[in-house]
Amino acid sequence: MRITFLGTAAAEGWPALFCECRACQRAREKGGKNIRSRSSALINNDLLIDFPPDTYMHTISNGIFLSRIKYLLITHSHQDHFYLEDLALRAPPFAHIEGKKILRIFGNQSVVGRIKNHRLEGDKTMIECRVLRSFEEVKIEEYRVLALRADHQEGEECLIYLVNNKGKTLLWGTDTGFFPEDAWAALKKRKVDIAVLDTTSGPHSTPGYHMGIPEIIKVREKMIKEGVADGKTLFIATHFSHNGGLLHEELEEVLQPYGIIPAYDGFQINI
Ligand SMILES: [Zn+2]
Ligand SMILES: [Zn+2]
Ligand SMILES: [Zn+2]
Repeated sequence: MRITFLGTAAAEGWPALFCECRACQRAREKGGKNIRSRSSALINNDLLIDFPPDTYMHTISNGIFLSRIKYLLITHSHQDHFYLEDLALRAPPFAHIEGKKILRIFGNQSVVGRIKNHRLEGDKTMIECRVLRSFEEVKIEEYRVLALRADHQEGEECLIYLVNNKGKTLLWGTDTGFFPEDAWAALKKRKVDIAVLDTTSGPHSTPGYHMGIPEIIKVREKMIKEGVADGKTLFIATHFSHNGGLLHEELEEVLQPYGIIPAYDGFQINI
């Protein structure tokens, strides 16, 4: 399984859209891995996780033909993960797609409800969508996907995902606070090869909604203790907010002793 991190920032991007703070100024000055767009990842070359407003830019900078992406997993309806308006551009005259290339979208009720309300499912867009509920497992051709309940937005069934492909398992863990008990229970029977964890708050601790370094260290410890992970499991931090303040090299330094790697835009892993 190949994982390409397309975007590794929280909702506002880093440097943030309108921000003049010190962390954003430093990111602008240093550039490189400190420039972070909104969160998304490409699995192999046909499965996309989340659809942020920066997807257009991701296709350009990574040479991705979005028309050829077959499956899209959406974690929740926040705008930095689900930029609904751009899905309308999959229909003519905005897009001319050769042959019947269906995009199958999986998400919670809120996500799928909005696609249907905007009439974006159908022959013109060639979009099909399906609601996934927490703890539901689906087979999507060569992928097996288990949706787990996140601790995030009240009133919405936000999801994190376990994606299995050819014997390797990815845990996609944004946006969420420390995992809820029932998610831990579902994870207990599984083995994860790569765990991607919400690190929105950087060095700060956050109760619920998102995580910071103190929480992802605890997640890693618990995963190892419960046999969900072992010494070979890769732990990757992502979804960074400027309010965390640590630039990429500083994150590397802080996370290295815990065996956690900070992601950056364009970071690619083969497992
Ligand atoms: Zn987010
Ligand atoms: Zn800022
Ligand atoms: Zn969110």
